This record gives sequence, C-alpha cells and structure tokens, in this order.
Amino acid sequence: MDSTMRCARFAQQNGELELAVVPVPKITQTNQVKIKVYSCGVCHSDVLGKYGFPGISWPRIPGHEAVGRVLEVGSAVTRFKVGDKIGVGWFGGHCATCNPCLDNEWVCCQKGQVCGIHYDGGYAEQMIAPEDACALVPEELDFKHSGPLMCAGITVYNSIRQQDIKVGSLVCIQGIGGLGHLAIQFARKMGYEVVAFSGGADKRDLALKLGANHYIDGSQPDAIEQLTKLSPKLIVTTSPSAKAAESLLPALATCGKFLLLAAITDPMNINPLQLLLKKQSIVGFPSGDSRDSEDTLKFAAINNVQAMVEVFPLEKAAEALGKMLENRIRFRGVLSIVPEDQL
Ligand SMILES: [Zn+2]
Ligand SMILES: [Zn+2]
Repeated sequence: MDSTMRCARFAQQNGELELAVVPVPKITQTNQVKIKVYSCGVCHSDVLGKYGFPGISWPRIPGHEAVGRVLEVGSAVTRFKVGDKIGVGWFGGHCATCNPCLDNEWVCCQKGQVCGIHYDGGYAEQMIAPEDACALVPEELDFKHSGPLMCAGITVYNSIRQQDIKVGSLVCIQGIGGLGHLAIQFARKMGYEVVAFSGGADKRDLALKLGANHYIDGSQPDAIEQLTKLSPKLIVTTSPSAKAAESLLPALATCGKFLLLAAITDPMNINPLQLLLKKQSIVGFPSGDSRDSEDTLKFAAINNVQAMVEVFPLEKAAEALGKMLENRIRFRGVLSIVPEDQL
C-alpha cells in the first residue's frame, strides 16, 4: 500500500491552499476510522482553515464534506467495517460529558471537534476520523452528491424537521443558493407547500423546477405584501444579510417560526411586540451531528433530493474554493479525489 498521498492543505495561517504529497495518516486511537476519500465538498467555511478557528493548528488539510469507504478501523470501533461507504460532515466528534452532550445536543458540544479544522479533513486521498463523527452513506447515492448533503443538506433538513410545523403548512425559503436550493427540495418533499423568495425574476424557473409551489421576486416593491398574503408558518432565511432577513419578519403567520440558518454577524432589527402578540419565535440552528447526517442522506436517497454541484479535480482545490467564496458556483463545489471511472 502507498505510504504517501496527495492532498491540498493550508501549510500555515493565512497561507494559500497548496498541493502536497504527505505520509498517509495512521490510526493512533482505538475509536478511529481510516477512510479512503472518493470526493469532498467545498464549503465557504473551509476558509476558516486558512484564517483560523479556536483549536486549529497548521499545516491543516481542510474538508468537512468527505465521502469515501472505510479502509481500516480501530479496535474499539463497532459501527463500521472495512468497505462501508461513509462520510464526515462539519460535526467532527463530541466529548459525551459536557452539558450540551448530556442533553443529547452533540453538535453544540463545548469540546466539539470540527473535521478539517481540529484534524485533517477530506481534501486528501485518505483521512482519519473518530467513529462518532462518521455517517453511513446509502449505496444508491453517488459520492459527489453526498458530500454537500452532510453540510448544506443536513443544515436545512435537520433544522426544518425540528420546528414542529404541520405537514401541508406554507414554508418560505429565502435565498436560492447552496442552502436554499436544497431547502426548497427538502421542504417540498417533507410535505410542505413551499414559497421561494429571492431577488430577481430570473430565479423563478429554477425555484419551480426545484419544487417550489410559488415564487416571489424580492426585488419587487410589493414582495413583502405578497408574502404576507401567503402567511408562512415557517420562514427559513439562508442568505447572510441581516437586512434581507429582518424585512421578512412582518410576513410571518401567527405562531410562526423564523429560522435563521445563514451565519449573519450584523445585529438584526426585530419587533418584540409582534413576536409577543402573534406568539412567534426566532430560532437559530447550527446543522446537526452524524446521526442527523445519516437521516439526511437516507431522506435524500428515498426522495431524490440532489445538490447541484460543479466538480473539480483535487489539483484544482484552490480554484474551487476561490469560486465558492466568490459565489461563482451553482451551487456547491465538489472535489473528485478518485475519478468516477476508477471508483
Ligand atoms: Zn460546510
Ligand atoms: Zn461535549
């Protein structure tokens, strides 16, 4: 077996993503799984591997949408065996003893690890992850479409399913990008009536093709009025603009939920009296853990939910990440580590 492998990594903080040949990783703990990576999604947050994140060290191989097959398992691993098709998403492991873990909120673990940040991720031919970070991937899903489901996909599916909104209710998905194009598909397949809300008339056809029942062009002056008439029980915001998000709040139905999924860093203007009088709530949601990934992947396989992807070879990892960061990919970039014809 090869003793070295190809990867793309950040050699140091603030350095560019560079190609390298490094020794293959070795299992050092009994709970670890060694994965032959077939493909890995490219995510905006991979750039945190460049600029920094609490607990990171360099050199670091990014990639938290890795999908492949098990090459080897540590002696304490019970859930996986050699050859299993598995993936690792943003959730990279939990401590099992902190308060959030004891509350079964693994993704909020105070000592939680992130794949591609706290240990090397999927921009490589092989990687090692703890067992609890790994999710089984259904055989009927192909590699390149599975990775994005473990980040963008799990975020929308897992958050929407936990809001207790009755099937058949109207759900608004704001933004048609990496998160939004999956949220429209998932929400429709979960049994909701879906209105897609985005800027420009040109997105209408795509929104309807993805399964939206209605489309509202947010650039029109009466857009909020149109949305208010539909009275959504759930508004899912996926674009990282505080202003765009807060403008939708007046349209929320009584007892509605306003779900924030994008990483908005600016303060938002909200009307607490509206929340009080209409029994509404604002909810944030961080994605999910490996168990939620398995549910997401299974749901996607059964219901034919598919990410729109643009595929790059590993050698073009820097170009792929650059295009993602400039929003020039519709909608998720994926690195093919093993070419499809060699699977
Ligand atoms: Zn991500
Ligand atoms: Zn914990």
